[in-house]
Amino acid sequence: MDSGRGIQIPSRLPLLLTHEGVLLPGSTVRFSVDSPRNMHLVSQRLLKGTSLKSTIIGVIPNTRDPEHDTDDLPTLHKIGTAGIAVQVVGSNWPKPHYTLLITGLCRFSVSGLLKERPFVLAEVQQLDKLEQYTTPATEGVPAEEGELGELSHQFYQAAVQLLGMLDMSVPVVAKFRRLLDSLPREALPDVLASMIRTSNKEKLQVLDAVTLEERFKKALPMLTRQIEGLKLIKKSRKIGPDNEKRVLSVRKGGVFPGRQFNLDEEDEDEDGDDTAALEKKIHGAKMSEAALRVCLKELKRLKKMPQSMPEYALTRNYLDLMVELPWSKSTKDCLDIRAARTLLDNDHYAMDKLKRRVLEYLAVRQLKTSLKGPILCFVGPPGVGKTSVGRSIARTLGREFHRIALGGVCDQSDIRGHRRTYVGSMPGRIINGLKTVAVNNPVFLLDEVDKLGKSLQGDPAAALLEVLDPEQNHSFTDHYLNVAFDLSQVLFIATANTTATIPPALLDRMEVLQVPGYTQEEKVEIAHRHLIPNQLEQHGLTPQQLHIPQDTTQHIISSYTREAGVRSLERKFGAICRAVAVKVAEGHRVTKTEASTPEDPTQQEDKAVPPELPIVIDHVALKDILGPPLFEMEVSERLTLPGVAVGLAWTPLGGEILFVEASRMEGEGQLTLTGQLGDVMKESAHLAISWLRANAKTYQLTNMVGGPDPLEATDIHLHFPAGAVTKDGPSAGVTIVTCLASLFSGRLVRSDVAMTGEITLRGLVLPVGGIKDKVLAAHRAGVKRVILPKRNEKDLEELPANVRANLDFVTAANLDQVLNAAFDGGFPGTASTHTHPQLSSKL
Ligand code: ADP
Repeated sequence: MDSGRGIQIPSRLPLLLTHEGVLLPGSTVRFSVDSPRNMHLVSQRLLKGTSLKSTIIGVIPNTRDPEHDTDDLPTLHKIGTAGIAVQVVGSNWPKPHYTLLITGLCRFSVSGLLKERPFVLAEVQQLDKLEQYTTPATEGVPAEEGELGELSHQFYQAAVQLLGMLDMSVPVVAKFRRLLDSLPREALPDVLASMIRTSNKEKLQVLDAVTLEERFKKALPMLTRQIEGLKLIKKSRKIGPDNEKRVLSVRKGGVFPGRQFNLDEEDEDEDGDDTAALEKKIHGAKMSEAALRVCLKELKRLKKMPQSMPEYALTRNYLDLMVELPWSKSTKDCLDIRAARTLLDNDHYAMDKLKRRVLEYLAVRQLKTSLKGPILCFVGPPGVGKTSVGRSIARTLGREFHRIALGGVCDQSDIRGHRRTYVGSMPGRIINGLKTVAVNNPVFLLDEVDKLGKSLQGDPAAALLEVLDPEQNHSFTDHYLNVAFDLSQVLFIATANTTATIPPALLDRMEVLQVPGYTQEEKVEIAHRHLIPNQLEQHGLTPQQLHIPQDTTQHIISSYTREAGVRSLERKFGAICRAVAVKVAEGHRVTKTEASTPEDPTQQEDKAVPPELPIVIDHVALKDILGPPLFEMEVSERLTLPGVAVGLAWTPLGGEILFVEASRMEGEGQLTLTGQLGDVMKESAHLAISWLRANAKTYQLTNMVGGPDPLEATDIHLHFPAGAVTKDGPSAGVTIVTCLASLFSGRLVRSDVAMTGEITLRGLVLPVGGIKDKVLAAHRAGVKRVILPKRNEKDLEELPANVRANLDFVTAANLDQVLNAAFDGGFPGTASTHTHPQLSSKL
């Protein structure tokens, strides 16, 4: 065990099944593995193990592991080589795989399979008894008498002869000499068979030769063949030292420590041309001086590296990226404000405020080209056209457009790249984007900046800050590039659903432009001006083939979508277009048959009638294509019992109506809250109850037995349906009060009312945010009256005129006014009804 040669391999080995190369003891081979079992072997054994023993695996040649785990294991080659994994490199491109560098130790035979999954584990028997290999190769006298001695002597002689024909100044030859001097002769067949040019089949023969005699016999002809081949070449050409190098040229994927003698000559030449071309490209890339210096240094290193070294590929990729980057390539801005206005107007209906601000921004840029202004950030629900405005801006400027999705990015190296020392390192998204657009002044849309994550791998927001800061971004240094790249010409635009989760430092750099949702009427306009024509074009249809009347659009909007934007509306049109495209295509086919066999009566029968064009989508067709309506006007239906009220909520996806339900039962005055509520919401519920208890007398509220304290001997359960959505915020206060007032009084809340507002213990109604989105949601849901805080009155001005005209707004400064507006004929006890008290029913 002391000599290092007395290797004892474990009796159970995980097996790597390969089909691409044969590992022989004493040589090192690179294997690329991607089948499930092999991948598991690497991830669960090699990468997890900590002991030296855990890096020893068995390599079974000539057996491809099936692509799927469920497939049965193929019959395995009976002999394999135990080896040490000396390097593991993982990569995801073009598909997940590992590259393993394995040094062969000794032969083994498989005596039994222990398990097949997740990787193959087998009981093995070591075949080579390495401690018997004693004869130093250089000793003149054969160690063994008889045939084996003779064979090993012959083999050694041949090896020496081969060595004599090679140029000693080449490193790999020098290594060959060292090996010849130091290895025992018994090891030579294996080592030489993998060094000289041999096919996999031949290597397999050497592997299968378990006895030494047989092994020498198998390997000797290969060695002689190599010698003869060399002789032939030497004879046919006068080989000078230069040419000789070629004989030994490095072969891609070579075998012995990355190399193999090779009689092919093209490789090196090709390589030389290649680096020369690369050098030319480096000089032509017009990169910064610092970058040029780095590139030339790397190129120098590259030239010295053998291609099979893993670092070769890394350096090569790096240089390829460097020459591809648009160091000084840019498009020329062509900004004409008048044209920009037309373009923005043509592309987008409504959103006037946004368009105006964008035009101002562009105009200032035109006057002062080196504008270091804030970054525009469009904030609004999904599908309201944020991305599409970004795209229009790029078009008006005549710039390239690139979208960088930041949702879920939680590692700063996503932005700033990985250092090149890491396995699988690559540049960040900014540099990648620049490579894609190939100019240095594109419009970059940073999508969903509100969904940046944070993790142990550093804060991506900090990296983004560096990208956006005009003071710093002219020398942005991606970790992978490791030289500065000037980002100051890039126009950044950000989008988000809400400002609440944008990191404050980032928000500080941005000018927020709110993009609210659309009203029903605006959606109809957008649909007919933009969405339908776009979808028709995408599906290869014309208005002569498909017609969607306004009335149908309205029906789709109200019964098949419930959203602030128009994204799912667009998808519904897509579905309609697909359905119609099938009909039209069928029609085509029929018309053709008709034309070719006009008089053939047999054809007439099974002929479908071509649809009459245009196909008009009415409600019946709609139901056929999209199925039954997804959303009903449910508000009035649900308000048929006391103890239900409708609130208005704001979410990053737009406004929504929110039901609040309450029930009471005999108990001990406990309050139960359900429906995924946040802390603020729970506090609102407690506030509401306290206020109602305090004012029970005024409003003639009673408990279950008719007493004045609503909670006496009563348990209350408050529920906010749609339990999957977490709800929080103070604005449900007035809704909870109204709901409970309805429960305690036994009166129904008006079926067409929705409300929002924060409450205080004293019964005041405080203003809340998101009024516009909330009112639009109420309008969508068919509500007629909206109760909102008095101090939110000014927000109503932002609403489209038709919404304002369709809704009845009640602004309330206190709960008294809220209750009065929420119930038909007012609420008993409220200021307006004091004079005509109404009797409340007793439950
Ligand atoms: P967002 O980025 O806000 O999620 P998108 O820009 O992806 O939304 O918009 C979704 C679709 O709706 C796009 O096809 C876009 O052209 C269309 N769209 C949205 N708003 C408008 C509008 N005001 N006028 C025309 N099309 C619009």
